[in-house]
Amino acid sequence: MANNEELFKKIISHAKEYGFIFPSSEIYDGLSAVYDYGQLGVELKNNIKQYWWKSMVQLHENIVGIDTAIFMHPTIWKASGHVDAFNDPMIDNKDSKKRYRADVLVEDYLQKIEDKIQKEVEKAAKRFENFDKQMFIQTNARVLEYTKKMQTISERLNKSLTDNDLEDIKALIEELEIACPVSGSRNWTEVRQFNLMFATQMGSAADNTDVVYLRPETAQGIFVNFLNVQKTGRMKIPFGIAQIGKAFRNEIVARQFIFRMREFEQMEMQFFVRPGEELKWFEYWKKERTQWHLSLGIPENKYRFHDHEKLAHYANAATDIEFEFPFGFKELEGIHSRTDFDLKAHQQYSGKKLQYFDTELNESYVPYVVETSIGLDRTFLAILSHAYTEEKLEDGSERVVMNIPPRLCPYKAAVLPLVKKDGMPEKAREILATLVDDFNCQYDEKDAIGRRYRRQDAIGTPFCITVDNQTLNDNTVTIRYRDTMQQDRIDSEKVVEIIKDLVKK
Ligand code: ATP
Repeated sequence: MANNEELFKKIISHAKEYGFIFPSSEIYDGLSAVYDYGQLGVELKNNIKQYWWKSMVQLHENIVGIDTAIFMHPTIWKASGHVDAFNDPMIDNKDSKKRYRADVLVEDYLQKIEDKIQKEVEKAAKRFENFDKQMFIQTNARVLEYTKKMQTISERLNKSLTDNDLEDIKALIEELEIACPVSGSRNWTEVRQFNLMFATQMGSAADNTDVVYLRPETAQGIFVNFLNVQKTGRMKIPFGIAQIGKAFRNEIVARQFIFRMREFEQMEMQFFVRPGEELKWFEYWKKERTQWHLSLGIPENKYRFHDHEKLAHYANAATDIEFEFPFGFKELEGIHSRTDFDLKAHQQYSGKKLQYFDTELNESYVPYVVETSIGLDRTFLAILSHAYTEEKLEDGSERVVMNIPPRLCPYKAAVLPLVKKDGMPEKAREILATLVDDFNCQYDEKDAIGRRYRRQDAIGTPFCITVDNQTLNDNTVTIRYRDTMQQDRIDSEKVVEIIKDLVKK
């Protein structure tokens, strides 16, 4: 764990040093849980968006995309349940005046027990040859005791959350003697519900009648446009509507860098199906989305499913695709079978019919919905943290290389004249001009070539094209591959073709 914390810190500072991510309003000491994407970050983020859009919208005949406004009619959030139920239980420490999510305090406590189990397992693994982890967990008395304790606490927490029993959550915090990490005291307030939506006012009225919310999810913009899209696009069920956009949540626990932000982006797709067919489509999208993640070249063991036992009020099946971030497995994407909850609620609150006439069945119905909802920033973090690699090279030196999948890299290639004279810069710029229509490229002539290669490694540029003396004679260049550092000599006229081919990987 300690090592991973160290690694995570390095990733955060690397992201800042190379212009991927800056803390928002940094010269004013920052704004908690809000971040800005820098010159490289925006390229990587846009590439992720494009890749998602292409695979979800453009490669599916029956899925179209929209882009709806952040402000929506306030009744929408009443209908969706967000005004009444989009809450987290919070608790304040009276000494430090710090606010916490009550359930997260208990979860952190559980994490500490899990760390203890892990330590016992590691100790034993060192002692015994042919160590069987599962067998050890089942038979070792201390580990067994920890595991049981975890289970009891976790079941009680889940029950209290389901029953909205805030008093019991407070009681649990007291019984476990959980102290405030800042003040060290156990001087807690009562547990209260805290609504995560940001509210603001629209128009010039001074009273509260024009309150509007910054949307906490992009999904509702899709639901309220269901009929518009279905009719104008002549869409036939099953079909999907996708959208990428900002969402805002006043998170109580805002930490772990861009994992949990107050302003973030979601990439969501709502798939409208016949009632009764939703679970079939739920399984379908689970598989499709898994394939999408694996197509990024990140190993399968970095992902796992977490099926929800406690279902949200609108769902009849739900799973999270979790990713192993440096701080452990956490939710990256949610796949939810949302039933007809949202469309029915909007039908009721707006008084407008939101139904579909199925010509094959010769009947009208409110469609059921399967949603895939992935955080763009969390995907960014998954890619960034998996890509960050420190390597010891054969000559004893070290390099940091970002193994970002080539199709997502901020720059696809860097064009480098070996030296800044003898016509090499001019030739290099000529080659650059043949590339820029197809790829985002960088030109760099400053410093020794070795340092320039390291700089490109550190920002993940997969290919470096170097112009040297020989180029001027036979029009060949070297292409250096980021991952292997191997160099090949190729005809400069073939560079576009070769990179096009490699970038798909
Ligand atoms: P969590 O349990 O981590 O708070 P959630 O279950 O509330 O997440 P959803 O409402 O299902 O999340 O939102 C869909 C996706 O949006 C999540 O899988 C996640 O990738 C992303 N997301 C949600 N909240 C945030 C946030 N505060 N910052 C960044 N991404 C977020």
